[in-house]
Amino acid sequence: MDMKQCYLCGGTEFNKRPGSVRDNPELEVLECASCGLVFLSSFDHIRDGFYENSEMPTVNVGSRQNGRLRSTNVIDTKYDKKEIKLALEKCLFDKTFRDSIKNCPNPYGTGNSGNKIAKVLAEVSIDQKLLRKRITY
Ligand SMILES: [Zn+2]
Repeated sequence: MDMKQCYLCGGTEFNKRPGSVRDNPELEVLECASCGLVFLSSFDHIRDGFYENSEMPTVNVGSRQNGRLRSTNVIDTKYDKKEIKLALEKCLFDKTFRDSIKNCPNPYGTGNSGNKIAKVLAEVSIDQKLLRKRITY
């Protein structure tokens, strides 16, 4: 997904900033011409949960991630410059916060649930107990 509209102000004009992304030199660093928000030209390289599971201090701006599991490294803010600034300062300079998120739990588990499910399915006995349903609610 290429960035077409600024998440913060809705602006549609961007200026290219110097710099690059180590792992993907094709990404450009852009700055919103209206509000100055700096971001990357694409988010395609980021899968769901990328930052939430990284133990990296993370600021989540807006409601897009509402209802999703997240770990303690994510600070949610509204579309509010002051609130975003405070959250960024906490991420960058609050040693207590930074220490608290080291080894924060990953709410999505360890990534091997498919193997666990396959093992249970391979070992479950298929008999009348499994086939007969009983509604208990
Ligand atoms: Zn903007």
